[in-house]
Amino acid sequence: MRHTARVSANAYEGLKARLGEVWDVTKAAYLLSWDQQTMMPPRAGPVRAAQLGTLSKLAHELFVDDEVGRLLDRLDGFEAELPYESDEASLIRLARREWEKERRVPTELREAMARTAAEAYPIWVEARQRSDFSLFRPCLERNVELRRRYAACFDVEEPYDALLDDFEPGMKTAEVRAVFAELKQGLVPLIAEAAAIEIDDSCLRGHFPRERQRELDAIVERFGLTEGSWRIDPTEHPFAASMATTDVRLTSRYPEHELMGLFATMHEYGHGLYEHQVDPALERTPLARGTSLAIHESQSRMWENLVGRSRPFWRFFYPELQRVFPEQFSGVELETFYRAINRVRPSLIRIEADEATYSLHIILRFELEQEILAGTVDLATLPEEWNARMRDYLGVEVPDDARGILQDVHWARGSLGYFPTYALGNVISVQLWERIRAALPDLDAELERGEFASLREWLRENVHRHGRKFTPSETLQRVVGGGIDPGPYLRYLGDKLRELAAA
Ligand code: ZN
Repeated sequence: MRHTARVSANAYEGLKARLGEVWDVTKAAYLLSWDQQTMMPPRAGPVRAAQLGTLSKLAHELFVDDEVGRLLDRLDGFEAELPYESDEASLIRLARREWEKERRVPTELREAMARTAAEAYPIWVEARQRSDFSLFRPCLERNVELRRRYAACFDVEEPYDALLDDFEPGMKTAEVRAVFAELKQGLVPLIAEAAAIEIDDSCLRGHFPRERQRELDAIVERFGLTEGSWRIDPTEHPFAASMATTDVRLTSRYPEHELMGLFATMHEYGHGLYEHQVDPALERTPLARGTSLAIHESQSRMWENLVGRSRPFWRFFYPELQRVFPEQFSGVELETFYRAINRVRPSLIRIEADEATYSLHIILRFELEQEILAGTVDLATLPEEWNARMRDYLGVEVPDDARGILQDVHWARGSLGYFPTYALGNVISVQLWERIRAALPDLDAELERGEFASLREWLRENVHRHGRKFTPSETLQRVVGGGIDPGPYLRYLGDKLRELAAA
C-alpha cells in the first residue's frame, strides 16, 4: 500500500513537472503574441509568425508524448481515491481530457494553425486600415481550411462542435442554438421598445484626447489588482492576457471622437481579475486560468456593464470624469450621462454595442461561422452577406469593410467558434449578478463609495480561485444551481429599459 502510494506520488510529481514545462512554453508563446499586438515593430511580423509556430509545436510535442499517457495510466487508482474537487484529482482529470484531445491533432497542423494565425494578424490590421476585405481574404481562406482539418480530427456531431469545445469545453453547437433562439426572441421586442425612448447621448461624442482617457485607466487600481502584478497598454483590438496570476496584461484602445476607452478598460479588467485571483497553488499548471471563455466573458461584462453602467458606480466616479474632461461634462447632469451610456440603439461595431443589441452581433457571427465552415457561403461575397444580415437583424447600413466584416480580430487569429462565448457571457453575468445581489445586500452603497472589495472577494471565493478545476457547466451548477438561462438577462434589460422610459 505504502509502495503504491509512493509510486503514485512520484507519477503525480512527474505529470505536474511535465505540465509545468508545457505551461512555460505556452505562456512564452502568449507573451510573444501579446507583444505582437502591443509593442512589436510591424516589420517583425513574418519572423514572429515562425517563432509562434515553433513554440506551439514544442508545447504540443511535450504534451502529447507517450510518457504523459503512461503517467496518466499510473494515476488512475490514485485519482479515484481523491476528492473530486482536490487540486490533484482536478489536475489529473483535466490533463487526461486535454491529452486525449490533443493526441488527435497532428503536430504539423498545430504548428501551421499558430503560424498562419500570426501571419494573418498584421495583414488584418492593414486590411482594416485600408477597409479592404480582399486583402484579408486569402488569410481567412487559409485559416478556415486549417480549422476544417482540425475539426476533422474529432468525432463530433457537427464540425462546429470541435471548434466551440476549445473555448467552451463540453458545450455543443445545438445548445448554443437553443439559447440564442430564446435570446433573440426576447431581444427583438426589447430593442423595438427602446427605439421609442428619447435619450440625448451627444455628451459622449466630441474630442477626448487619448492621454486624458488614459488617466481614467486608474479606475483599475481602485477596482483592485495587486500592485506590481499587472500593466495596461494600447492596442488595435482590446484583450487581456496573463502569463501568471502575478503577470496580468490588460490592453485598451482610445478613439478620440468618443468616450470608449474607459469601458474597454473596465471590460478587460474583469478578464484580468479572473486570472489574477486564481489560487496561487495552481500556478504553472493548466488549472491556472479561467475555466471557459463564456465564464470569462461573464466577468468582463459584469465589470463593464453591471458595475460600469450602473448609477451607484457613477455617483462615485462621475466627479472624476468631470475633472478629466471639464469642457465635455461640467455642464452635464449625472442623470443625463447615465441615460446616455445606457442608450439602446442598433449600431455597426460589436465592441461598442449597447447591452441589448450586442447579442445580435454575436448571433450574426455564429451563423456565418457555421456556414463558412460548412462551405455554404462563398468567401468572395462574405462582405455582402455580412452587410445584408446587419440590415436584417439590426437595421443598419454598413458603409465599408472596416466597420463591417473587418472589425474583429478573431478570424485573423483563426479563432472560429469563439464568438458565441460573448453572448453566453452576457447571459451568465446576470445569472451570477442575481446571486451576488442576494449575498451582498449593501453592494450599491459600497459601489457608491468606490469600494469594490466585497464584490471582488465574492468572485474570488465562488468563481476565480478554482481556475479550471470545474467545467463551465459545473461552475454554473455550483454557483447558481442550474445551467445557462437567458431569463435573468432578459429581465434585467427589460427592467432597465422600462425605468429609462418612465423617467
Ligand atoms: Zn471580453
